[in-house]
Amino acid sequence: MQASLNTALLDQKLGKIQKQKDWSKNAISHFRNFICQSEDRSLFQINPYAVIDVLKLSERETVDLFLYGAKEGIFQMDWNLVCPCCSLTVESFKKLKQLHSHYSCPTCFRQTSTELDDYVHITFTLSAKIRSLIFHNLDQLKKKEEWIEYYYMAGSWVPVDGNMSSKEFNDQLTQHFSFFNPGEKKRIELELYPIALLILELLQMSSVIYTISEEVVSSQTEVIQFSKTGLSNQRTDCFPAKMTLHDPPQEYDFGNVYPLSSGKILLEIENLSDQRLPIWIQHVPEEVTDFPDVQFDACLTGKKLCANQTFREIFPSQVFQLGKGIRVQDQTFLFTDLKSSTALYDQIGDLNAFALVSQHFESLYEAITENQGALVKTIGDAVMAVFTNPVDATNAALAILERLKQLNQELSEQQLVIKMGIHNGGAIVVNMNDRIDFFGQTVNIAARIQDLADAEEIYITDSVYAYPGVQEIVHRCQITSEKRVLKGVQEEILLYKICPKLPH
Ligand SMILES: [Zn+2]
Repeated sequence: MQASLNTALLDQKLGKIQKQKDWSKNAISHFRNFICQSEDRSLFQINPYAVIDVLKLSERETVDLFLYGAKEGIFQMDWNLVCPCCSLTVESFKKLKQLHSHYSCPTCFRQTSTELDDYVHITFTLSAKIRSLIFHNLDQLKKKEEWIEYYYMAGSWVPVDGNMSSKEFNDQLTQHFSFFNPGEKKRIELELYPIALLILELLQMSSVIYTISEEVVSSQTEVIQFSKTGLSNQRTDCFPAKMTLHDPPQEYDFGNVYPLSSGKILLEIENLSDQRLPIWIQHVPEEVTDFPDVQFDACLTGKKLCANQTFREIFPSQVFQLGKGIRVQDQTFLFTDLKSSTALYDQIGDLNAFALVSQHFESLYEAITENQGALVKTIGDAVMAVFTNPVDATNAALAILERLKQLNQELSEQQLVIKMGIHNGGAIVVNMNDRIDFFGQTVNIAARIQDLADAEEIYITDSVYAYPGVQEIVHRCQITSEKRVLKGVQEEILLYKICPKLPH
């Protein structure tokens, strides 16, 4: 049975959100219906991308509704570190600044460097003040399926035997799942075969791991206890086990493992704590080590959020700890600058020039945000913007030229002339002056190639040009390519100069 909904509080908060911006017709009512009519699991760790069709809204508006919903306290927003190997939510954080640069999965032992691109998922869970969900309280989770739903990120697939959801896959590995009451001791009989057995508890996420040899024995017994330090056995004949897969390189660190043989085993497991303990026993067959990483449905990643203008505006304090940065593998940067702006200030005076430059900033802001980008900062008359992909950045650059052309038509004499550069690649996301900023060679190159551009030219690198969809966007423009050596960059870089043929 669903807990009762605090509709008065929900409507009060939705009323505030309604006033925040110009939402499309029915956006708030669709959002309200979704919150009021969904079952518990649909309101736990919501991936906004998974409910775009339910809400019948655009991607941008859907994400904005959840961000404003989190700001108003309808939802709790979490930054989840998800294991790329098994899709377990290794850790959840309320704030960006709590993310670590490295994490280790307690069930498959994969070692992962935190990168914002694919494995940092941002989810939204309905606040208990609006409606209590079973997932708000671990004691209310009674079934194995609920625990799996709690720990494994939804919308993840193991690309094997067609496409199997990670939950189904984990279910297949399961040999036993049950709850141990405080003080309870159980005997569990299993049939073992190579290659490994994992006994895991889901409160502290501690485990005991066994390797299983091909040799068959008629009987063996293992005694395992759960105490304050987690799960342990009494044995001392353990050995450290690590594994490295090479293509691509992945590290697994299993810690200490114990040897067992194939055949029947009697497990005696005792819960010495005063908490109800979910114990999960998985058999790991040899083939599992060959399986590719899980694939995720489209979701709101850390990379997308850092390039989301709404997030940057309404959560300005969500920045990393000073001095710590997190990697993003592929982000796209657009730099713009006004040509001959010094002459402009000289000709029409500071006040007039400033008014004109401000108008130009507004046009840029609109072109950037309408193309799913975010303004990182302005530097004098220059702008740095971030996008999740080169297609959006290129569309934004062309839209900027179009808008400035319109602006120039409204002006009598003074003409604003812009030049731009776009590059994509890896960067470090950092906290700078209380806002999210980006650093690294990709950013430097994007800024440098903007410097090379002349009036109404967009310089893009070959990685931008080669990105699927970009050539279709620029095919009506004049395109010339050249190799250039950039200051501070060792290798020659292939650049494309894009000159739109604007109708005059
Ligand atoms: Zn894992």
